[in-house]
Amino acid sequence: MIELRGITQTYPGKNGPVHALRGVDLSIAAGEVFGIIGRSGAGKSSLVRNINLLNRPTTGQVMVNGKELTTMDDAQLRSARREIGMVFQHFNLLSSRTVFDNAALPLELAGMSKAAIKKRVDPLLDLVGLAALSDRYPAQLSGGQKQRVGIARALTSEPKVLLSDEATSALDPETTRSVLALLKQINKDMGLTVVLITHQMQVVKQIADRVAVMEAGKVVEMGSVIDVFTRP
Ligand code: ADP
Ligand code: ADP
Repeated sequence: MIELRGITQTYPGKNGPVHALRGVDLSIAAGEVFGIIGRSGAGKSSLVRNINLLNRPTTGQVMVNGKELTTMDDAQLRSARREIGMVFQHFNLLSSRTVFDNAALPLELAGMSKAAIKKRVDPLLDLVGLAALSDRYPAQLSGGQKQRVGIARALTSEPKVLLSDEATSALDPETTRSVLALLKQINKDMGLTVVLITHQMQVVKQIADRVAVMEAGKVVEMGSVIDVFTRP
């Protein structure tokens, strides 16, 4: 599904180049919940921008569904990007738009008709438990509800992968558990691959099948959650 081979990412820095990624190999299979965990500065954000195809690595290969990023033309890149739904830490909702209109935004931008948008968004709001709140504004929602809007919005393009970038980091533990349970449900019921980037071990422990541990731009451990977290 997603394969990263020998990814390096080097940024120009004031005091010489910054090596944010120093040779990352990752293979994420269709249908799995894959956790990427590491402390601040480990290179997680740089890796996210490689997985969602917003950044080209300095060296290495990014493959999505067997296609290599560097050989894709712009149209192929756009369509590959649509296969990856993003969920963000700070929700990124527009305060002047209702729950429905926030979730519908990507489809509106894509020029879809109102009727078709409604047909796609209503079931998604249902799925995330917000059907009754579709006319509310973000300011009238709890953090967990805001993130559910973010998840519904990420699903509107019918992606194959849901990429969660610290999506529960701004939430309290109980809300975190319920948002993670929703992601797991989406993984099971819809067969979506879920990739979770986090600095919180409990997130990975609750729902990931496999985990990669990052340190200083490298994957230092990878395996099943049980193996990685029970190893001495
Ligand atoms: P994380 O998300 O795990 O905190 P990042 O990928 O943001 O890690 O950062 C990895 C390293 O690369 C850090 O040392 C960070 O300061 C550096 N870095 C990230 N982005 C840039 C950039 N645009 N320019 C220079 N250095 C960067
Ligand atoms: P996060 O905490 O979400 O990982 P960061 O604070 O690491 O975010 O990075 C936010 C933005 O700043 C990113 O676009 C990243 O590329 C950039 N950035 C991070 N570290 C540096 C740095 N040392 N120099 C320049 N830009 C950086």
